[in-house]
Amino acid sequence: TERSYIMIKPDGVQRGLVGEVIKRFEQRGYTLRGLKLMSVEKALAEKHYADLSAKPFFAGLVDYICSGPVVAMVWEGKGVVATGRSMIGATNPLASAPGTIRGDYAVDVGRNVIHGSDTVENAKKEIALWFGEELSE
Ligand code: ATP
Ligand code: MG
Repeated sequence: TERSYIMIKPDGVQRGLVGEVIKRFEQRGYTLRGLKLMSVEKALAEKHYADLSAKPFFAGLVDYICSGPVVAMVWEGKGVVATGRSMIGATNPLASAPGTIRGDYAVDVGRNVIHGSDTVENAKKEIALWFGEELSE
């Protein structure tokens, strides 16, 4: 079955949005397969966002992800990668539709509450990066 790596970023944890995010994925019909609250080392954040390393906001992005604990999760179910992305909303919350997580809870692209894998292939890589052996299929 398809799996996605979903992560509540430090602002989402600090603002008390963990339950809200979990509720939305559960209610949609997805199954929680892994969950941990963790502090993120700089090297892990850099690896996770390695594709963006040339962007001007990369250093700020890494600092943001390391600024407090995150909730790392693996969700499973039909189409969870694409549907998870549509539940999360556009990268820039100002463009996220109301009803999406970012559209309901964020206004700043640099504090956009949540991450979701963008392809099934990247989901596999991210699950291996964040959960490793704990969640090998
Ligand atoms: P994520 O990978 O976190 O789910 P995304 O796939 O919607 O987000 P990406 O292009 O992968 O968007 O960017 C990763 C993250 O980098 C964004 O979620 C956001 O936190 C940050 N980011 C992207 N663009 C900008 C920008 N222009 N300024 C500041 N931060 C940005
Ligand atoms: Mg992305």
